[in-house]
Amino acid sequence: MQFSSRSVENLVEEFAKLPGIGRKSAQRLAFYLLKIQRDEAVGLADAIRAVKEQVITCTVCGNFTEDDPCLICRDERRPRDVICVVEQPMDVLAVEASGGFRGQYHVLRGALNPLERVGPDDIRAKELVERVKEGGVREVILATNPNPPGEVTAHFLAELLESFDVQVTRIARGVPVGGDLEYSDQATLARAMEGRKPVE
Ligand SMILES: [Zn+2]
Repeated sequence: MQFSSRSVENLVEEFAKLPGIGRKSAQRLAFYLLKIQRDEAVGLADAIRAVKEQVITCTVCGNFTEDDPCLICRDERRPRDVICVVEQPMDVLAVEASGGFRGQYHVLRGALNPLERVGPDDIRAKELVERVKEGGVREVILATNPNPPGEVTAHFLAELLESFDVQVTRIARGVPVGGDLEYSDQATLARAMEGRKPVE
């Protein structure tokens, strides 16, 4: 069904581009916005604009931040000799929520995936090597997702770091296979972190 209003139709199309939002939900959201007060709707638009204008990437860890380096990278109380490598900023939230890790992060912003043409240059692998090269890192924990792209990525990074004087470990398979870190429950993730093993 098309709407007689071009602007409503535009809004529906924009919502329908969002992950997990089908056309029906997109229509519901558009009508909801038409119904609410102007201030409220504009508040949402402003919030979207603000994150796009103010949120940048931490040049150290690759996480989203408004200040560079980010709060975690600047936190003097966190150990600097352990780096937990994850795929996405959402994974940092998951690991933090699990309470099973105190240390630094490295966000790859992706995982190797030949089918989708994601290669080594498309993830922040070089940046990780640079951090290890700088020294002071005792352990790198590979906490990429326990699915094929995540496993391939962990393998690749372990090889890349082989020549450095650093212990490379992989989180245990407590996280359901094929599941994303961000969806695994906190206790499972904490156990997976606890049960990490050196990569052979
Ligand atoms: Zn950072």
